[in-house]
Amino acid sequence: MTHQTTCCYCGVGCGIVVRQEPNGRLTVEGDKDHPSNQGMLCSKGMNLHYTVMDQSDRLLYPQMRLNRSMPLQRVSWDTALERTAAVFRTLIQKYGPDSVAFYVSGQCLTEEYYLVNKLIKGFIGSNNIDTNSRLCMSSAVVGYKLSLGEDSVPVCYDDIEEADVFYVQGANPAWCHPIIWRRIEAHKAANPHVKIICVDPRRTDTARSSDLHLPIRPGTDIVLNNAIGRLLIEKGYIDDEFIVDHIDGFTAYREQVMQRTIAEAADLCGIDADAIRTTAEWIGRSKGFLSLWTMGMNQSVVGVNKNLSLINLHLITGRIGKPGNGPFSLTGQPNAMGGREVGGLANVLPAHRDVTNPAHRAEVETFWNSPVKIADKPGLTATEMFEALADDRPGAAPLKAIWIINTNPLVSLPDLNAAESALKKARYVVVQDVSNRADTVAFADVVLPAAAWLEKEGTMTNAERRITYLPKVLNAPGEALPDVEIIWRFAQKMGFGDAFSYNTAAEVYHEYTQITAGTNVDVTGVSYELLKAKRSVQWPYPAGGWGQGAESGGAGTKRLFTDHSFYTTNQRAQLHAVPDGNNSEPTDDDFPLVLTTGRIRDQWHTMTKTGRVSRLNQHAPQPFLQIHPKDAEERGIQHGQLVEIKGRRGEVRVKAQLTEDVRPGLCFLPMHWGKFLNNTLGRANNLTNPLIDPRSKEPDFKFSAVQVTPY
Ligand code: SF4
Repeated sequence: MTHQTTCCYCGVGCGIVVRQEPNGRLTVEGDKDHPSNQGMLCSKGMNLHYTVMDQSDRLLYPQMRLNRSMPLQRVSWDTALERTAAVFRTLIQKYGPDSVAFYVSGQCLTEEYYLVNKLIKGFIGSNNIDTNSRLCMSSAVVGYKLSLGEDSVPVCYDDIEEADVFYVQGANPAWCHPIIWRRIEAHKAANPHVKIICVDPRRTDTARSSDLHLPIRPGTDIVLNNAIGRLLIEKGYIDDEFIVDHIDGFTAYREQVMQRTIAEAADLCGIDADAIRTTAEWIGRSKGFLSLWTMGMNQSVVGVNKNLSLINLHLITGRIGKPGNGPFSLTGQPNAMGGREVGGLANVLPAHRDVTNPAHRAEVETFWNSPVKIADKPGLTATEMFEALADDRPGAAPLKAIWIINTNPLVSLPDLNAAESALKKARYVVVQDVSNRADTVAFADVVLPAAAWLEKEGTMTNAERRITYLPKVLNAPGEALPDVEIIWRFAQKMGFGDAFSYNTAAEVYHEYTQITAGTNVDVTGVSYELLKAKRSVQWPYPAGGWGQGAESGGAGTKRLFTDHSFYTTNQRAQLHAVPDGNNSEPTDDDFPLVLTTGRIRDQWHTMTKTGRVSRLNQHAPQPFLQIHPKDAEERGIQHGQLVEIKGRRGEVRVKAQLTEDVRPGLCFLPMHWGKFLNNTLGRANNLTNPLIDPRSKEPDFKFSAVQVTPY
């Protein structure tokens, strides 16, 4: 028996065919009918069935304890949810609705995201819900909003075959978005004139297969993009008519980028001025200019400015809303975009509405028939939640309880020693997860077993706005339940039964589609039946509307802004004259090196899934530190030697890998290894700093000051 579904790892959102043998064995292969991957899968996707067949780490039953010195004990679902509801009610009565919070995940299905958002914002009366997408995409979200009027990725994967210049900045798609990268490589192989430019302080596999690698100093992306903007203006590569007709802010932008000469910019970036000139020439002469970026741009204390500086290049050249052209933020997680659509961030409401907009709040309150007013201020974001749990000073945020769903913050948050202390201090911690390998289980008062991939139905939206249906193929083990059902059961225990009396995920999805009516994210034309018939569609997709038009054969909206009418109030896109400074943690004599963190090819996030697959572990079985031979020599460090990396907040001990793939002054540590099940000494986020971008609240993972010594 075969089933079509979607890979649950990254935002590429590859279609997968799962085959069930009569003996129960599963196999997987790429779905040739899925437009996103056309049958291809990367190493993680090809090995997904092993994570399903190995159930040795599964949480099977609800567990509870009355204090954390006791062992967790098996209880019934009713007992676990009734106690949690009683604790939540007591805290809310005593300290107000902001005393509780949900921390969710880009792994959640759209229905789960929608329902937990409805519960806390519309019924508990707090905006304290945030997602690990805050650590990933929130700088891109704010960049899009400020430039284009809304969090809207304008392009699609088919633009790859239409482009002739790819500007890849702060991303390593060869490892982290492999199927997109294979499409780019195939396109270049068939069209040798196509140019790929990679901007990255590290010589990654992406950089190695690019035509031009710009190994800039960490934190100088804006300097580079502004210099390219200056050259595009000076060389006459801008689209004057497009700017006059559709763009605001050009005068201020031109003044800003003219402040620095190309020689100064090259010096600051630590690269050759001719490389900047070549980049500008290639972009300026291209017919299709596609930029791709991820965490090197987003995970920064100036992440929003970095995003704006890149989107600016598309606006001044008019390279947006046309085939092969546009800014393309590569989504990290499989459903980070679906979560944003339904309002799964502390500052937004469903269909990209804003919690600070009274009209938006009123629309949603009416739709939900909310018994409370939706709070008019953003709730606590990811890192703010953990800071609040630790802070009991008078006047501090009153957060006492946190419910963590399908994410492992004690590996993935920055400054983990502080995050761990915060969770210890929390009055009440609920962990809802698939796996007992989540590091948070050790701190939980209640553990709720969730159904995994293939064990529940729902939808996800990938990086190109493509919604795909995921069927239930297997029964969940033990008493594990779909996340959406856990939330509606809990809401019923809280006394909100009338508004949470669902029987199926399809009912939840239908309700969500109706709240999008008339918005830029309108998906009123989408249903499970439609998705089963069409396999996938791209939003917007209004009922009977233009989303189903001839351009895409009824498969939705391939590109946004093709009419050059943007989502701002005056329909004009906005250029932003962004300063090129960086406000990261300073280096000094004690901590002279910059540490950057990131993914490796065959692991996914905190390794709760990929860490169990021996084939995937073979690529890099242990954490390691990449350091330049010159920096190593100065410190007496040999290749393969155990070293201690010390920062202002903690230390890590791993083996050194001497390589010229990192710039002198920079070192790299993979982000995947945690403390409890993997390797205490390799937990990269012991070292990362708590700085965040002031607008996106995204952490500065890519720039922490450290020292490295032989151990
Ligand atoms: Fe899964 Fe991403 Fe690999 Fe596709 S590219 S198979 S979505 S991990």
